[in-house]
Amino acid sequence: MKCDRHNTPVRRQQKISPALSRQIIRHLLTWFSKNARDLPWRRTRDPYAIWVSEIMLQQTQVATVIPYWIRWMTALPTLANLADAPQDRVLKLWEGLGYYNRARNLQGAAKMIVNEYNARFPESFAALLELPGIGRYTAGAICSIAYDQPTPVLDGNVVRILTRIFGIGGNPKEKVTNTQLWSLAEGLVQTAARIRLSCSHLNQSLMELGALICTPHHPSCDVCPVRRHCVAKRDDRTGELPNLGPRIKSTARNFFALIIERDGQFLVRQREAGAVNAGLWEFPNAELPRATLTNSRSIRAVAKSQFHIAITKPNPLFQIRRSVTRYHDTIEVLRASITSKNALREKPWRWLNLDELNAIALSGAHRKILKRLKDGANAAHCF
Ligand code: SF4
Repeated sequence: MKCDRHNTPVRRQQKISPALSRQIIRHLLTWFSKNARDLPWRRTRDPYAIWVSEIMLQQTQVATVIPYWIRWMTALPTLANLADAPQDRVLKLWEGLGYYNRARNLQGAAKMIVNEYNARFPESFAALLELPGIGRYTAGAICSIAYDQPTPVLDGNVVRILTRIFGIGGNPKEKVTNTQLWSLAEGLVQTAARIRLSCSHLNQSLMELGALICTPHHPSCDVCPVRRHCVAKRDDRTGELPNLGPRIKSTARNFFALIIERDGQFLVRQREAGAVNAGLWEFPNAELPRATLTNSRSIRAVAKSQFHIAITKPNPLFQIRRSVTRYHDTIEVLRASITSKNALREKPWRWLNLDELNAIALSGAHRKILKRLKDGANAAHCF
């Protein structure tokens, strides 16, 4: 059959009958019962522990999250511990995961739960949505996984599975398709509840299938529990679903960072409240056009205007690269000495030795710089 306007084959979506939903749910649950990974947060129903895992897992691989989650739950085993912890400690526990606002929101929400709910974790989806950093996905995940409520989840994994199973060709970021996908996810979890099957396991089975079988580039359709119901497999469309539209172009940025040492101590500053990575520590740094990145006059001028320090001619040490969302950054790390009389004793500046730097929370790129400095110091010590 052809579409009249474009004379192209019509891409049919699958009709979703209650019987089909029930079959898909049963296949998913049977598969999950045999194949679910033994993850530490799956051994608990504590909503606080599940919440922490869900926030850590956003845009981060499971293998990376496991040691972070264990360290966090050992240091701050209860919601009240998190609410009472100094922010520096919270950021240090999060150090390396990126998106530090998530750690700040976790603590902000923990304080609200302690103050407004007498430290009892809310069980209502609507109440969870009122907390900072908790959106529809996270509230749905907590309510279903911790309390077995029929609340849907829709993350990248679930989007991929639903668009493929049901042959949905619209862009999931567009409102109409997004609404359709939420309603499909909701229909499945509510059907599971109606036939008295586990909403928690159903949502986790969708997430798990997306992580292990229905992967973005090479889905393992031959061993997929829902292969007999999947439009993408039947029509050979796994490469085109989900339809995420054109890729956003990446942007290259260039920074310099200054290593300024005095009597074994290094000059660092704490990022201000409201800034990206607020509360984290870093070496003095700024963005510059690529052409002026190794121009000592430009760097000395920026040091004077932005950091209010006079420095000697900077010498290149090494480069660090990082990727943050669509940005690909190169950081030219340079060594210089301070020539101004100003001792920089005031906030946000501090002089810290290597051990002290190790104990505070640095952003990922500055942690890498510190590691290179320590490696260099150890090598110098050995020879
Ligand atoms: S059959 Fe293939 S495309 Fe369809 S849900 Fe399973 S893994 Fe994904």
